[in-house]
Amino acid sequence: MQTQKIGQFKVDMVLESEGSFSPLDFVVPGITAEQIAAHSDWLKPVFVTDDNRVNMSFHSYVLQTPKHNILIDACAGNDKERPLRPPWHRQQFTYLQNMAKLGLQPNDIDFVCCTHMHADHVGWNTRLHNGQWVPTFPRARYVFANAEYSHWEKVHRHAVAHGLDAPNHGSFADSVLPVVDAGLAMMVDSGFEFEAGIQLQLAPGHTPGNCLLDARSNGEHGVFAGDILHTPAQLIDLSLSSRFCHDPVLAAQTRSELVHQLADTSTLLFTGHFPSPTAGRIISKNDHFRFENN
Ligand SMILES: [Zn+2]
Repeated sequence: MQTQKIGQFKVDMVLESEGSFSPLDFVVPGITAEQIAAHSDWLKPVFVTDDNRVNMSFHSYVLQTPKHNILIDACAGNDKERPLRPPWHRQQFTYLQNMAKLGLQPNDIDFVCCTHMHADHVGWNTRLHNGQWVPTFPRARYVFANAEYSHWEKVHRHAVAHGLDAPNHGSFADSVLPVVDAGLAMMVDSGFEFEAGIQLQLAPGHTPGNCLLDARSNGEHGVFAGDILHTPAQLIDLSLSSRFCHDPVLAAQTRSELVHQLADTSTLLFTGHFPSPTAGRIISKNDHFRFENN
């Protein structure tokens, strides 16, 4: 993604990984071969491969304002034990080097904002140092939605008490709790403002406390939507939730509201997993919507 502007704000993308990881009908159960075929003219080959796999990207955004550098979502991270997810297991991604190419070091980040607490959105919250998980961004305040934190904290406590598998592949324990223990976490409610014009808003369904980040400056508008959409193929039918959605019906409602709100406007949508260039606009087309990068 080229650097994007929202008024006086600047947005860059920090890539962790990109590729065609899974079949589309695995990521989006319920999508039909007929639907894919009817929309292959715009979905393929950029968003969906010829053999119907989803092209996905794992990345963060850095929203730079005159006052703050805000990192939005934190990918899967390095050295994490994720045996059930090989693409995230004991990885050595060049993520921090990619961030350095933007002229940014970990100490330059003022806020880290995770739209939700799945393992591919919290990983870089921490890094392994002398066998311990320590905050990667030591000067940052890590902003979490109260509703999201309290949900996963409860699930985590239950798992520990009953000897069950740790939630989210262990990422709550190795990528969330260490920043809480370090005193760097801020639990906030919907409507929290990082600064004038930049607001966290609850957008539940994908997870109980899933959020989006809304940015407005000088009449321009951008939305950082995390996993409200995983692939543009969901724009064919807004009721198509992903396999990873906690409440597929509520996720569909949230998705539909956002898409109808943004369609055919100048608002830039910064997606959580669409392939590069990852940001674009939603347009309406006959009985469905599409995603366009230019
Ligand atoms: Zn995700």
